[in-house]
Amino acid sequence: MSLPTLNQEVGAGNTATKRCTKCGEAKALSEFPVVKDKKSTPGKVYSYLHSHCRGCHAERASKWYYANKTRALRKCKEIYERNRSAHLLHAKEWKAKNQEKVRIAKRKYKKAHPECDLKRLHWHIKTLSDYYVRNALRLTVANAPPELIAIKREQLLIHRARKQLKEKANGK
Ligand SMILES: [Zn+2]
Repeated sequence: MSLPTLNQEVGAGNTATKRCTKCGEAKALSEFPVVKDKKSTPGKVYSYLHSHCRGCHAERASKWYYANKTRALRKCKEIYERNRSAHLLHAKEWKAKNQEKVRIAKRKYKKAHPECDLKRLHWHIKTLSDYYVRNALRLTVANAPPELIAIKREQLLIHRARKQLKEKANGK
């Protein structure tokens, strides 16, 4: 069987279909993943469409994922670590371009996980974060010099230590 070129096959407006050999359904060509042939060289790329549709692929992949969860997670992590800086840059760019989406997602997450807010607050209290100390001073980022934050942090630490010692002395 001679295959048309890829652009012809999956191009927009193409109504041709292909039957998935797994689920047996006839689907649009865009529903089939493109496979790069091993014969491909940098100058010439041979590719064809997979015989299983995207849906069947996804199903198989998710089955494999749940059956090999530890391995799958390790693999994901490996790939992530390899491309970490690129990932972070990409995420940063995406966030900057999709501020509204980020805001909605954040709000949704907050609503679904009210305990996270509490956890975050506890973290700020425990670590005496800049944010926490600034709030204790009733100052904003713009008008809180770092030296002042450092001093206030010391003060809060002393205050905590004093409280603890006092409680100890009172036999609590
Ligand atoms: Zn299928």
